[in-house]
Amino acid sequence: MIEPFEKIVQQGIDLQTGITELLKLEKPFPERLVKRVKIDDVFAKLIYRASSEKELIPSLLKVGVKQENNIQHSNFELVKNGAKSFINWGVSGFKIASQEVVDERTLICKTCPYISKATDQIAYKFKINANEDMSICSICGCVISRKVALLNKKCPKNKW
Ligand code: SF4
Repeated sequence: MIEPFEKIVQQGIDLQTGITELLKLEKPFPERLVKRVKIDDVFAKLIYRASSEKELIPSLLKVGVKQENNIQHSNFELVKNGAKSFINWGVSGFKIASQEVVDERTLICKTCPYISKATDQIAYKFKINANEDMSICSICGCVISRKVALLNKKCPKNKW
C-alpha cells in the first residue's frame, strides 16, 4: 500500500473512512475500491492524486462497475487482433514506450469505464509472468499492461 494510506491506517483510522474524508465524498468510498487500493499501487496513487484533481473522482468511482456497452470478443477475433497488432508493431520498428508514457497511459486506463477483468477465454490464459495484470480494454480486447507498453498503440477511444 502506498505511504499516504499507510499513514492513515497507522493513525488508527479505517482506510475507507480516511479515503472518504480525503476525497471529501458525500457517501462512503466504495468497499470494492478500498480492497483495490490495498493491492494495486497504481490505482492507489491515482486515488491519492484525485484528492487534488477532483475531476478524476467520478471516473474513479466507476472503476469495476460493469458497463452495459462492454463488448465480448470471440477467441478468433482476439487472436486475429493480436497477430495484426504484432505485425503493426513490427512495421513501426518494435518500439517500446518509455516508463513515463506507460505510467500515464496506465493511469488513464485505470480510470476508464471500459477497463474490465479478462474473461476466462483461452486467449487470455497465457501470462507473461505469474503476477501480470490481466485487466483488459473491453473495446479492443487488448490486455492493458501489454498494450500501453507498445509505442505505436492507440486508445480506441482516443484517450491517449
Ligand atoms: S485503451 Fe482507452 S478505452 Fe481502453 S481501457 Fe484504456 S483508456 Fe479505456
